[in-house]
Amino acid sequence: MNGASYQPDPELVKAREQLLRSIAERGIAGPQVLAAIAEVPREAFVALELQRYAYDDNALPTAYGQTISQPTVVAMMTTALHLTGNEHVLEIGTGSGYQAAILSRLAKDCVSIELHAGLAEHARDVLRRIGVTNVRVVTGDGSLGVPEHAPYDRIIVTAAAPEVPDALLQQLRPVPGSMLVAPVGDQQSQVLTTVEWASDGWKTSRVGSVRFVPLRGEGGWTDTQWRTD
Ligand code: SAH
Repeated sequence: MNGASYQPDPELVKAREQLLRSIAERGIAGPQVLAAIAEVPREAFVALELQRYAYDDNALPTAYGQTISQPTVVAMMTTALHLTGNEHVLEIGTGSGYQAAILSRLAKDCVSIELHAGLAEHARDVLRRIGVTNVRVVTGDGSLGVPEHAPYDRIIVTAAAPEVPDALLQQLRPVPGSMLVAPVGDQQSQVLTTVEWASDGWKTSRVGSVRFVPLRGEGGWTDTQWRTD
């Protein structure tokens, strides 16, 4: 991307510096991930009236009752992927497109799938506007992955799944370094989970606790399973 045509508000620049300091101090992000967060204008991904909160370390609402993930969580999940710049990445749950923009700076390219066509279209527009050219946003049920562009070197799921969908593991290249990161759990409790290739198969680790909106679709939660009481 090139941010040349994008002139951020000085208050937002200050807020962004503060957020970056706080993420750096907690040691939860590598230097490249911090640089990507410094370069992607998060305010471009939220509604006008929320732009002043763009660098608060909070999730913010988007259309269709969805959210743009909290910067700390984006930092942790992106760091967990150990990107080197050569990877073909799949993201499940484009939402605003912010996480995809971060990935665009750190990987070779990214396919990002979103269930809501309206959100996908909006994310595509924002990504184009800020100059991102290596992210392909598609509409559909990402719990089944995107087999036509598989295999992937990394997969990131940004909605809570009942378990790591099998279809996704089948689309991950079975070689050392391959990695999937996903929140697994319900609305009471979710564990950020990584699955990586070891010589004898996929190895699962639990990284920490998070809170995401539900993954829907075939490998996701139904309305009755995702209870709000
Ligand atoms: N990564 C986003 C935040 C994701 S919020 C960002 O950076 O803004 C979770 C998103 O997953 C929502 O937009 C929701 O519509 C989408 N989603 C839920 N189930 C899905 C599925 N089965 N396939 C694709 N997208 C899904």
